[in-house]
Amino acid sequence: MLVVAPGSVARTLPVPGLAERGIAFKSVGEAIFLRNHVLSQLDGAATTVDPELRRRMLTFLVVGGGYAGVEALAELQDMARYATRYYENIAPDDMRWVLVEAAGRIMPEVGPRMGRYTVQRLMEAGIEVFLDTRVKSMEGGHVVLDDGTEFDTETIVWTAGVKPSPMLENTDLPRDARGRVDCTAELQVVGMPDVFSAGDCASVPDLSKDDPRPGRARRPSTPCGRRRCWPTTSSRTCVASRSRSTGTATRVRWRASGCTRAWPRSTASSSAGRWRGSCTARTT
Ligand SMILES: Cc1cc2nc3c(=O)[nH]c(=O)nc-3n(C[C@H](O)[C@H](O)[C@H](O)COP(=O)(O)OP(=O)(O)OC[C@H]3O[C@@H](n4cnc5c(N)ncnc54)[C@H](O)[C@@H]3O)c2cc1C
Repeated sequence: MLVVAPGSVARTLPVPGLAERGIAFKSVGEAIFLRNHVLSQLDGAATTVDPELRRRMLTFLVVGGGYAGVEALAELQDMARYATRYYENIAPDDMRWVLVEAAGRIMPEVGPRMGRYTVQRLMEAGIEVFLDTRVKSMEGGHVVLDDGTEFDTETIVWTAGVKPSPMLENTDLPRDARGRVDCTAELQVVGMPDVFSAGDCASVPDLSKDDPRPGRARRPSTPCGRRRCWPTTSSRTCVASRSRSTGTATRVRWRASGCTRAWPRSTASSSAGRWRGSCTARTT
């Protein structure tokens, strides 16, 4: 019997500047690098006399609103806000945190309601959230979004999806259109009785969904092929949100506090977040 579960690797797109500027967040090593990088930006911002450079160093962008992106963003922001107490000239609200997501929702695995709730909590934490928005370029750290927004940053975390391990290309395992190992609901590789697969690299039918083909689902319940995901993004505390219209029909600005997870250290933020696109009216 053989079990094949090599997981996934970060998926990159042909975005100008991504190869030079993007920081992945998949391995422990990348997480440690990112932590050190964010703290070094605080060091740099605290010592520079150039206001433009300071603004750039205190701007942090995460691209991709999946589990990895949302966790990276919320945890890093919380860590950085805590760290500002060691800097005389940096206040938590001097930092700008931005999440850009191409789809109209984040974390599709947890369903629309939890996704909306999480966006609300991120904005309450002072994080700007751009939905239905793509990064057009990031050359030299100059970020251009497809809605025309532009800003400079030294920190671009790229968590816009994963793809199955490239190791699978050197096997004869059957794979679906996205390169994942084609499995039955019992995790058996299709046509290979002694081979099993699971996790990010596997395409497993979700029998709770309709499927026109016998024994197959229309689509897996999650991009990674799992039928259920950990409820780690739920929160134990909920801080009421406040909003005020900016005058446009599609934009609401937020001021409040809180994060997607319950952190004892989270403090109030006065920076404004942005809620864009079709979800504006659904922040209940
Ligand atoms: C920051 C972050 C937060 C996340 N949060 C959540 C969450 O809250 N909820 C959720 O459901 N999911 C979450 N995920 C996704 C979750 O971690 C993955 O879906 C899960 O780890 C996939 O498990 P896996 O066993 O398929 O792959 P992995 O956990 O990646 O394990 C694959 C292993 O195979 C090894 N390997 C690869 N190729 C080879 C080879 N050729 N030979 C030998 N070994 C090899 C790799 O080194 C790795 O150790 C998160 C992911 C990240 C990055």
